[in-house]
Amino acid sequence: MSKQFKRTLITSALPYANGPVHIGHLAGVYVPADIYARYLRLKGEEVLFIGGSDEHGVPITIRARKEGVTPQDIVDRYHQLIKKSFEEFGITFDIYSRTTSDIHKKTASDFFRKLYDDGKFIEQESEQYYDEEARQFLADRYITGTCPHCGNENAYGDQCEQCGTSLSPTDLINPKSTLSGSVPVMRPTKHWYLPLDQHEAWLRQWILEDHKEWKANVYGQCKSWLDLGLQPRAVSRDLDWGVPVPVEGAEGKVLYVWFDAPIGYISNTKELLPNDWEKWWKDEDTKLVHFIGKDNIVFHCIVFPAMLKAEGSFILPENVPANEFLNLENDKISTSRNWAV
Ligand SMILES: [Zn+2]
Repeated sequence: MSKQFKRTLITSALPYANGPVHIGHLAGVYVPADIYARYLRLKGEEVLFIGGSDEHGVPITIRARKEGVTPQDIVDRYHQLIKKSFEEFGITFDIYSRTTSDIHKKTASDFFRKLYDDGKFIEQESEQYYDEEARQFLADRYITGTCPHCGNENAYGDQCEQCGTSLSPTDLINPKSTLSGSVPVMRPTKHWYLPLDQHEAWLRQWILEDHKEWKANVYGQCKSWLDLGLQPRAVSRDLDWGVPVPVEGAEGKVLYVWFDAPIGYISNTKELLPNDWEKWWKDEDTKLVHFIGKDNIVFHCIVFPAMLKAEGSFILPENVPANEFLNLENDKISTSRNWAV
């Protein structure tokens, strides 16, 4: 018999604030979540429906640089636009907030610090490209060069858009910084990693044995990730846009956007219910359901649960409904470019 819960906490994927939401997002994530929230409310159940914009990460800084404005200008523009679209579409969020709010920065920072203090991260030094003129480490997207596979001279440090090959910056021939145009040099930098490999055993049991009822696409993707074996994942990076790493000597480093964004669900609940948010996140009688797009499956089924488990006081999701592409006149509308988590 399935467990009876006292209340339901519904989250919907945080759209990335560097562009508008489109019909694919609405059909795949927000309308299904909204229907579920309305249904539970009609039944008289206790329900919360949380939304918000995801406002950190490299693509926003790239867009800002291109337009000659600040990252804050970009997220202010798109947060307002997205929020208004949802209102006009009639999506009934209990709160729609954002990851640049003060309450989010503090919540994400405290979350990192708790895991750091409890020894839940590993520290590792690696060599990364650094721009001596711009005086900063370069995110993969800030490096261009020649693709070793097809010879395209404008391949990015993470991918060649001509042949579609995934790259790492050191694969590029004649790498160049897009910030200053200079040739980047290798420099050592220290980062913190969430050792997902150490979480593999309980994740296997929890997903593959205890949640066989999850949708086939969700279950299948989790299984293939787990079967490949999980690797430690960097939770910090060298960037000037994001939540600063709250550790001495970590100047110029911020939390990786994939780490801070899902904490936004918690921050937004806190913003709405400053004195009563914990029962929604820490009481076993709350049913947590994440509505997401298919590109977010691994983050919501494996990575975020590992973060919550490492923290120790949070509940885990009971279900993670994810939808595939929406077809419009036989063309796929891909949502992948708009999710940055
Ligand atoms: Zn190529």
